[in-house]
This record gives sequence, structure tokens and C-alpha cells, in this order.
Amino acid sequence: MNNLISNQLETLGINSNGSIYFQIPVAELVEHALVNHEAHLTDSGALSFNTGEFTGRSPRSRFLVKDSSTLTHVDWGQVNKPMTSALFDELFNRAKTYLSSIPIYVRLSHVCNHPNYKQNILSICESPCQDLFVNNMFTPPKSIGDTSIDWSILVASSLKINDFETLGLPNSHCVSIDLTRRQIVIIGTAYTGEIKKSIFSALNYILPLNNDVLTMHCAANVGSKNDTALFFGLSGTGKTTLSSDHDRILIGDDEHGWDKDSIFNFEGGCYAKTIGLTFKNEPQIFNAIRFGALLENVSFKPNSREVDYENASITENMRTSYPINFIQNAIAGGRGEAPENIFFLSADAFGVLPPISKLNLEQAIYYFINGYTAKVAGTEIGIKSPVATFSACFGAAFMPLHPMKYADMLRQKLKDNPQIKVWLVNTGWIAGPFGVGRRIPLDYTRQLIRSAMANTLAEHGFQTHPVFNFEFPRECPNIPTKILNPKQMWENLDGYDEQAQKLKTMFDQNYQQFEVFVENK
Ligand code: ATP
Ligand code: MN
Repeated sequence: MNNLISNQLETLGINSNGSIYFQIPVAELVEHALVNHEAHLTDSGALSFNTGEFTGRSPRSRFLVKDSSTLTHVDWGQVNKPMTSALFDELFNRAKTYLSSIPIYVRLSHVCNHPNYKQNILSICESPCQDLFVNNMFTPPKSIGDTSIDWSILVASSLKINDFETLGLPNSHCVSIDLTRRQIVIIGTAYTGEIKKSIFSALNYILPLNNDVLTMHCAANVGSKNDTALFFGLSGTGKTTLSSDHDRILIGDDEHGWDKDSIFNFEGGCYAKTIGLTFKNEPQIFNAIRFGALLENVSFKPNSREVDYENASITENMRTSYPINFIQNAIAGGRGEAPENIFFLSADAFGVLPPISKLNLEQAIYYFINGYTAKVAGTEIGIKSPVATFSACFGAAFMPLHPMKYADMLRQKLKDNPQIKVWLVNTGWIAGPFGVGRRIPLDYTRQLIRSAMANTLAEHGFQTHPVFNFEFPRECPNIPTKILNPKQMWENLDGYDEQAQKLKTMFDQNYQQFEVFVENK
């Protein structure tokens, strides 16, 4: 460990009595995880571990420090919940005392694949699996040298906040972000997604404010003509799946920035869902799950170390992380030109949105601000009904600023570049709602997206949707024409009109809260 790192640990107050494993190689991390009985090796060579009590993020337990600097910038509310500096200090002290008493895994890495915006991160984790996650998701430094550290993140996942009620916290676990002092503390949850999404929250704050960079919860890839495409969407709508495409080069699968003339990946790795994963449908992702990749919360087939991707007994949100170069056709450097096509992905479980529609500028802002998808929530045992979910900018949970700040930046970029095409893609249900219809086959969605990018959707013209008012194509190569018009796929035609109207009303109602900000643009 060099002086820089030991000084930084000292400044943070971490005086470990146990061992400090700094920047240890992947093979050694795997050995540690296996020797500690924290993980298993799978037959593909990947490491598999369980994140324990939490297999997803805990939005109720995420806090941002409210101080004189963040006070006026952050959009405070149910998503961005305030915490005092004093409480942050208390949690930080507990985490540092805890991490000083156990072996720790320390790593220097960076986010933002752009020399102007690069942020160095020092992570201090209690588990080798978490350190492997950091290694996979962020970019390793070329040399440690005299790099300065921009952000520190402490992950004390086995620590619990037993007196949480006294402290005014909802739970014994907590994710706390101090945007001013640039420190993050995670206590009581081992779900690795908290690590990446807390850094994402930090970037969503500093880059738009300080650097005029639009930060986006989206995937990005690029075709042979340098044509970049962005894929926005809430969880499970297909960002990771659709951006991994043998015809195109992957820039990144989840978090990007868009400055004056380029887009860049924040991360150095991918974090893919693995439920139902098959080689046939998603060969790039399937093949990436090899030595060095980390699997979370998956199960094995009986008496084997072969992963059973159909078995969701631990959670539906089973995942894998791997460095982006594990995907064969990923771009080194994680950058691309400004996009030619933007896809908003919504998994519409009501089955009323067309598989693909074209949006004008106003519609683009409307759908961006609404950030719609539908979840299929269990109500009674055996009966599941769709519930509309709205998350502004397709990622409100990670956006500290007011959604209109991001929407205004997008509007300006679309105005300045009128050649950019914006599409709304329904990666959810066709031929009726969940329970009646079916999920649109992945092959169809890929083909629709390919045709949109190749300009072949325009060849036979578009028709205007009577309820939503956007345009959808009449024909698409290699796709049955009838699936393009959602109403034609419904047996109950009146039922379609009624459900489409209901969804439109939900869109409008959700939009109302933002309308006052949009008007004078
Ligand atoms: P997150 O933000 O949580 O990472 P994501 O947007 O990256 O979510 P994916 O990991 O791509 O979501 O998940 C999409 C899931 O839906 C995959 O398991 C994929 O196989 C499945 N799927 C089924 N049909 C489709 C379709 N038509 N289009 C896209 N994905 C589909
Ligand atoms: Mn994803």
C-alpha cells in the first residue's frame, strides 16, 4: 500500500487492527471468498455469493446530507431524504470503528470515462465479494501514483444500527451520502447494487451542477457508422439486454453522461439480471459469466455447480457483475458521439402501448419526465395485476436534483440536434394485459430497434395513435405487421380503448406535478 492510500485511510480514521488487503488481484479475492466460505465457484469459473437479507436496494433507507451547500440544490422529498451532518458523522464513526476491527478490502478505482470528469474512488469493504464487485464495476487505475481521491465509500454490511429508532432512522440499515464532503457510508446491507447506485447518485448531482453534463440512467451502444444509441428505462425494461447486441459495440449498460458533443460511460462494468438467462437469447451476457465475474443470489442445479437461471427461489433480482471487456464487442474507453437514436423502454404490463412509437420533442420530454413502466405486483395469491410505476427521468431514485433540471438539459440537446430520433418502445405485453396477453418476444424488440436505427421503419409511413397521439409504424421488416398496432392484437377491442384511455389519464395525472415547470419553455 502506498503512502497516498495509508494517509487517506488515516484521514478517514481507519486504523485497522486486522489486515488491510489493498488492490489485491481478482484471483486472490476469489481465494479469500472461498476460504472464508462466503462464496462458491460455479462450473463456468464465476464466483457466486448470496447478499443475505437484502437482495435489492432499500430506497426507504437512503439519505443525503442536508447542509448549506446541498440545501438549495437537492430536490428534497420522499426520494431524496435529508440527514443532518451530525447523524452522518455518527454513522461514519460507527462504520469506521467497525471496519478498523476486521480485515478490510481497500481499492482505488475511478468512474467517468472522460478525462475532464474522471472521479477517483477509494472503497473500503468488509467482504472480498464486495471488493470484487467494485473491481468489476468501476475502472482500475493505470497506476496508483499520486492520484488524489475524490470520493470515499465505506461498506460495513454486517454492522447493524440497533438504536435506529433513537437516531430517527427507519431501519437498522442505511445508505448515507454526503455530497459536500464526498463520502458515502453503507451500513447493514450487503446488496452490491447500493455501491454502484450511491456513486451514481453522487455523479447525478455534481456533473449537471458543475460541468453542464446531462447524467442519464441509460445504456449506450454504437453501430458501424459511429451511430450512438441510448436506451433509457426503469429496472427490468431491457437496458442491459438490448444494449448487448452482436451487431453493435457496447459503450455501457446503465449510467452515462452527455456533455457538449460526446457521451461517456460512468462505469467500467456491467450489472446484468440473470433470471431466465439463456445462451440463445443473450449470448454476450451468458458468455461473460466466467472467471472474474460475480454472481449474486443464484441457485445451482441439483448436485452440480451449474447455475439454474430459471430458479428464482432466492430472488427474481439475481444478478451478475463483470468488467465491460468481458463482453466481446465492447468499446475500450467507454465513449461515443452524441446519439442518433434514443429509446425509452417501458414494459407496459397493460399491453396498450405499441411495440414501438416515434416521439416528437414535446412527447419526448413528456415521456422522459413521466418515466413509465408497469410492475406486475402480486395482490392475492395466484392473481397478479399490473401497477403503473412512474419515476421521473427513468431514474428518480438516483437523481438528487429536480427532474426538470435533467429534462431541460435533454430538451436543449434535442432542440440543438433536431436529427436525433426519440422512440418509445414497449418491451412488455402485447395481445392483452398481463395474464391475458404475453410478453413481446425479445427477438421482435431487437428487430424493431434495429429497423428504427436503419431508418427502415419510415419506409411505409406511420399512423397516429388515437389516444396517445404519437406515431407508430405501419410495417417493419421481419415482423408480423399486426403486432405493430396494439389494438389489433386485442380480442376485446372496447377493452383496449378503455385501458389505453386509463393509462393516458394516469400519464396526464402524473405529469401535472411537473407541468407548471414546463410551461414557459
Ligand atoms: P436494471 O436497471 O435493473 O439493470 P435493465 O433495464 O437493465 O434493468 P435488463 O437486465 O435488460 O433490464 O432486464 C430485462 C429482462 O427482461 C431480461 O431478463 C430479458 O431477458 C427480459 N425480456 C423479455 N422480453 C424482453 C423484451 N421484449 N425486451 C427486453 N427484455 C426482455
Ligand atoms: Mn441493467
